Amino acid sequence: MTGLDVLVPSSPEEAVAAYGDGDGVTVIAGGTIVLPEITYGRLRPSKAILLKDAGLAGITRDGSRVTIGATTPVVELTELPAPIGPCAANVADSEIRAQGTVGGNLCAGIGPEAPRGDLQGALLAVGATVRTGGSGGEKTQPLEEFLADREGKLLLDVSYDEPAAGAFASLDRPHTHDYTALAVSAARAEDGTTRLAVSGVAGHAVRLPSAEAKADNPQAAGEAAAGDATFADDALASAWYRGQTLPVLVRRALTQLQEA
Ligand SMILES: Cc1cc2nc3c(=O)[nH]c(=O)nc-3n(C[C@H](O)[C@H](O)[C@H](O)COP(=O)(O)OP(=O)(O)OC[C@H]3O[C@@H](n4cnc5c(N)ncnc54)[C@H](O)[C@@H]3O)c2cc1C
Repeated sequence: MTGLDVLVPSSPEEAVAAYGDGDGVTVIAGGTIVLPEITYGRLRPSKAILLKDAGLAGITRDGSRVTIGATTPVVELTELPAPIGPCAANVADSEIRAQGTVGGNLCAGIGPEAPRGDLQGALLAVGATVRTGGSGGEKTQPLEEFLADREGKLLLDVSYDEPAAGAFASLDRPHTHDYTALAVSAARAEDGTTRLAVSGVAGHAVRLPSAEAKADNPQAAGEAAAGDATFADDALASAWYRGQTLPVLVRRALTQLQEA
């Protein structure tokens, strides 16, 4: 590779300055997605920012508010209450969980062979907000909005209020290196509101508003969920199979939530 500019910021401020408006910049956090892309020649960066020393790792609490830095390894989330902990524990295997970061998971593009970005679903379910730098300066916005438009934004951290109860249900595969074909996260907030989200769908993870409206009845919510998501065929499962499985996962997640 020739003419590659590699920047290694040593603070969040330096990372934001190095990122600028993000034009022509390749951000590398854990690199579990980016490095294979470079190795196989599908990505040829001219300017790369390595975030590992940028001081963006760690989990902090302020009362019931939890803030997770963008470069926190996925493994550090595995002990958090549902849906975050079980979702993190379900990502890939121990090597990938130790190397891959929360930020990389939330910023993961669409995988050609398998979906990725499982934590998007769990963090949507708890109503997370993200803090970003980049074009337009520092910004805090709902994760939902961020997922719909991630262009030109450097993710700094993600925050949420710990839910009163949470649940996670996934379509499991036997091989530990496998990606998650489909997963549903559920959370009940302190005010009794239930939020549901699904990952493994076409594009990024999404909320399931029709299912949320029927959350008191897991069977009816499962049936309603089908209208909230679109599915894709890939190496893990067909769109048809995902469509058949979503109601089951919604039912399981809501039943877990009722029992929690
Ligand atoms: C064998 C294998 C199995 C896997 N299984 C799963 C799985 O089950 N579930 C799953 O969700 N994923 C899975 N992955 C994908 C990946 O490992 C995880 O999603 C991981 O969390 C990505 O984090 P990373 O730090 O390695 O991302 P990176 O590769 O560093 O980055 C991923 C993308 O996000 C961008 N990015 C990273 N950090 C930021 C930031 N702070 N701000 C803006 N952009 C940023 C990068 O530019 C890149 O486009 C798997 C990968 C492998 C190789």
